[in-house]
Amino acid sequence: MKRACLLALLIGLNAPLRAQMQRPLSPNDQRARDIFEQLININTTGSSGSTTVAANAMAKRLLDAGFPAADVQVIGPPDSKNHNLVARLRGTGTQKPILLLAHIDVVEAKRADWSVDPFTLLEKDGFFYGRGTLDVKDGAAILVATLARLKQEGYRPNRDLILALTTGEEGGSDYNGVEWLLANHRDLIEAAYVINMDAGDPVILNGKRAFRSVQAAEKVYVTFKLEVHNPMRSRGRRSPNGRKCSRDRWRRIWPRSLSRRRTPPRSGGSRTRAPCTTRSCARPALRRSSPAGTRKTRCRSPQARRSIVACCRERRRTTCSAH
Ligand SMILES: [Zn+2]
Repeated sequence: MKRACLLALLIGLNAPLRAQMQRPLSPNDQRARDIFEQLININTTGSSGSTTVAANAMAKRLLDAGFPAADVQVIGPPDSKNHNLVARLRGTGTQKPILLLAHIDVVEAKRADWSVDPFTLLEKDGFFYGRGTLDVKDGAAILVATLARLKQEGYRPNRDLILALTTGEEGGSDYNGVEWLLANHRDLIEAAYVINMDAGDPVILNGKRAFRSVQAAEKVYVTFKLEVHNPMRSRGRRSPNGRKCSRDRWRRIWPRSLSRRRTPPRSGGSRTRAPCTTRSCARPALRRSSPAGTRKTRCRSPQARRSIVACCRERRRTTCSAH
């Protein structure tokens, strides 16, 4: 999801847990680390913290980098201690803006539950410790450091880059910053699309960038209702031993198998695994209803055995007893 202009600037902090102190930091890297540390050291929990403090600190970073005051705003409900930062790096306007999003509130962190101070960034044995190092003040620090650098270097993109550091993502706060901005200041964050730093984390293995996961959604679910129609054709008719019928049996139970992440056997693959015997024909019925034993007994009757091929060929049968 990242665009090249940002990707090239995702500096040392792109490994949120793994500190990279093997090499001397460049001035830009050092600033990014300082911003990261500054954010971690500010308590932004819903109970005792304040995102306004963090938003003001990040606003100062951007103003120091040359952003005009009119393009850097710390806003929120007047009676709240948790405000949001919205800033805009102005481009040529050829394209619609991109919104760069990260939340700066964090999950509760009781000192008694931690072996170290959760609000003091600690770098130890190549790792960073502190509340929000992963979720997602690392992302906020990357965005602030990157925009500050772009501004200082006079970079002018073909579209505005909007930065929103918001509150209330973790719950526990008095409101949700994104919802509030959409309801009250949509003009400030209106964009072609959003890049959310909270949506997936980069993975580095043995010092090499392995992959960058992208998360499409969170805290929602989607229900699929499948209606499966079995064409059946003539498989059973040509297979007196019933082998091909076993795939038909799979087709009948396929929707349930799907929920267990199972896949139906490929054509031919089922022949040795589940030959179409009287028992295999009865199995779907046993799973679907009770008392299972009754159906099993009926399916094993001599009459059912004689007509087993027809039984398995039948489109939606749950039992062989009708034959
Ligand atoms: Zn998060």
